[in-house]
Amino acid sequence: MLSIWERNELIHYDHIIIGSGIVGLTTAYYVKKKNPSKSVLVLERGLLPTGASTKNAGFACMGSLTEILDDLKIASEEEVLELFRLRKKGLERLQSILGKEKIGYQTNGSYELIFKNEIAALEKIDYCNQLLRKEIKQDAFRLNNSKIQEFGFNGVCAMVENLCEGEIDTGLMMKNLIQLVSSMGVEIKTGCEVLSFNEHSNQVEIICNNPLLNNELILKSNKLFICTNAFAKKLLPQANVTPGRGQVLITKPIPDLKFKGIFHFEEGYYYFREYKGCILFGGGRNIDKQTEETTEFALNQAIQQSLIEKLQTIILPNQAFEIDLQWTGIMAFGPTKKPIIEPYSDKVFVGVRMGGMGVAIGSEVGFSLAEMSS
Ligand SMILES: Cc1cc2nc3c(=O)[nH]c(=O)nc-3n(C[C@H](O)[C@H](O)[C@H](O)COP(=O)(O)OP(=O)(O)OC[C@H]3O[C@@H](n4cnc5c(N)ncnc54)[C@H](O)[C@@H]3O)c2cc1C
Repeated sequence: MLSIWERNELIHYDHIIIGSGIVGLTTAYYVKKKNPSKSVLVLERGLLPTGASTKNAGFACMGSLTEILDDLKIASEEEVLELFRLRKKGLERLQSILGKEKIGYQTNGSYELIFKNEIAALEKIDYCNQLLRKEIKQDAFRLNNSKIQEFGFNGVCAMVENLCEGEIDTGLMMKNLIQLVSSMGVEIKTGCEVLSFNEHSNQVEIICNNPLLNNELILKSNKLFICTNAFAKKLLPQANVTPGRGQVLITKPIPDLKFKGIFHFEEGYYYFREYKGCILFGGGRNIDKQTEETTEFALNQAIQQSLIEKLQTIILPNQAFEIDLQWTGIMAFGPTKKPIIEPYSDKVFVGVRMGGMGVAIGSEVGFSLAEMSS
């Protein structure tokens, strides 16, 4: 039940984007930049973005040595390079949108911890450097074992430094992205879940929940962008997207912490970093993969416990720490690491399945969606 005022002025938009994660917001940025006079609306079901973009670790990463070697087991060199290119372009684009300061970009070093069973990977450093030199004019990896002792790690056989990765402040980046698109005239409605959409010859109807009036609100747009990542199947049941929950914790500040920078181990399944004197540590999805294929935000006690154990035994041996926060975020995976960036029709465009690399590739996906629709 709409009033005449609502029907005439408040439900029609030129472009509607579903999802206010990094992909939805950068899509809004590029769509509005291309069409300043057009109305652009972002719909977000949560009061805050409620997927992965405000829950991640903030690694501006291109891929660790063992991750790239693992990818090469199922993908060709060209496919692996294509993904590397996408990450590189995405990170450059994110910096070009907001600037380094507004995303808190820093390069404090990036390292992969290598354990006894992975030592063979070290023989492939030269090969990987050669491969990636097709995209960057420097070596990506070098052995840097001297830092193991300096950082105080235990049980680590070797450490590989990645020379082309950095870190961002995820909260700062998302806050500034929201502010930027809002200042351009993009409208963002939060607490608005899209239930379905219907295409007609000249427009798309977007059906939203409207709990206060106990009914549905139908918005209308000329073009629709679906940027709902792990939650894509709700609107696109055929989408080949499997959710993957990520468990994260952060410690309270650690006196005299010996390292800064970002760190990965076990093919990228575990990752930790220094943030304001604390350690943010996440991962472990591989030890309970089936349970973690969910869109529910809940702690997995077994994985959280394994993170704490690894902190005690590998990262901070002999050092007391306290946990400050534990949380989860939901990623989206598929049969390959390639994201889905495609037109669904001439009016509907889809950018989902960012894997564990949406910070890196998200802005490039937003750019591609805006280009595709024009
Ligand atoms: C723990 C963790 C650590 C990570 N670490 C890194 C990292 O260090 N580096 C990196 O590059 N990547 C990392 N990632 C991955 C990265 O965060 C994601 O790939 C990226 O944020 C995905 O962005 P997105 O915009 O596609 O999706 P999301 O951020 O999930 O946004 C989708 C939005 O759509 C909304 N939505 C869904 N359905 C509806 C609906 N029906 N109606 C309205 N709104 C809807 C959701 O609420 C959500 O806000 C990590 C992810 C997690 C979970």
